[in-house]
Amino acid sequence: MSKKVLVLGEVREGSLRNVSFEAIAAGKTIADGGEVVGVLIGDSVENVSAEMIQYGADRVITVEHPHLKQYTSDGFSQAFMACVDAEQPEAIVFGHTALGKDLSPKIASKLQSGLISDVTKIEGEGEDAVFIRPIYSGKAFEKVKVKEGVLFITIRPNNIAPLEKDESRTGEVSSQAVDITNLRTVIKEVVRKASEGVDLSEAKVIIAGGRGVKSEEGFKPLQELATLLGGAVGASRGACDADYCDYSLQIGQTGKVVTPDLYIACGISGAIQHLAGMSNSKIIVAINKDPEANIFKVADYGIVGDLFEVVPMLIEEFKTILV
Ligand code: FAD
Repeated sequence: MSKKVLVLGEVREGSLRNVSFEAIAAGKTIADGGEVVGVLIGDSVENVSAEMIQYGADRVITVEHPHLKQYTSDGFSQAFMACVDAEQPEAIVFGHTALGKDLSPKIASKLQSGLISDVTKIEGEGEDAVFIRPIYSGKAFEKVKVKEGVLFITIRPNNIAPLEKDESRTGEVSSQAVDITNLRTVIKEVVRKASEGVDLSEAKVIIAGGRGVKSEEGFKPLQELATLLGGAVGASRGACDADYCDYSLQIGQTGKVVTPDLYIACGISGAIQHLAGMSNSKIIVAINKDPEANIFKVADYGIVGDLFEVVPMLIEEFKTILV
């Protein structure tokens, strides 16, 4: 049976995050010929609705209100529930992002539905769809099927390929009126930490440094390599604890979970808590001077050596290929 699927598009600083397009692709698989309806929530989001359609949404609903300028779970849940009431979807897809992780349980509880969070793969389509998600910090995977009620999933960024953008696609864009009341929190100001370049959680290439990098200065070659490859710099908690870099770069069980195409771990031992955040990367390269380091057990390619010699060699080599 085909399904109507609501897909939440995430807008950050006026642009759609990539995970929105991946969520549309997941929505298409679930819809099985049914309708995929994009939902955009904010104070001014209509301008990105065409892009949702170009990536596969059949139509888009915008919910705009001054109280939706900043994300609050109260405001966004009222906005999303207004769309649910109007559309009565059979399925819902969010990104497994900070916003998605916060909002999805609230919506699921309002709908009295289940929630399959952090889906990395979908096998089959429509009624036969089976959702695969990592458990026990990525040491095992479980396959989940929904037996009844609204099918509600969140998808891990960088795992489900988006559909190809088709600029000729068109679709209806409508607005949903909503009265935002009972906001228990009001965001007065957002002070962003200065961060440059590619967003770590969506990066296709990550160069991560551990305690072996030895200092803040030691991260500079890693940054150079990341910039060269169009990627982002990440870190182990060891490096963050040692004050070599900011905690916003931490990858792992208590940091960010990432799935880039290429993960280069430099001077990282491979503690289980670190692996929990990166072991699903498509290709893992480890550089460590200890041949017994645990990181080599998950690495596709291992380089036993001093990162301060290997990383500059990689930079030189990539420069000859790329520049
Ligand atoms: P180390 O274990 O000290 O490893 C440094 C590595 O660098 C060594 O393997 C060494 O051989 C190598 N090295 C040194 N010099 C060089 C050189 N010149 N060239 C090449 N290699 C070199 N950790 C995380 O990363 N993320 C988390 O989210 C996280 N959450 C945690 C949650 C809990 C509850 C707990 C208890 C721990 C958590 N940890 C986490 C910490 C984790 O257990 C490890 O302590 C941490 O990952 C170690 O960081 P590291 O690999 O950089 O340092």
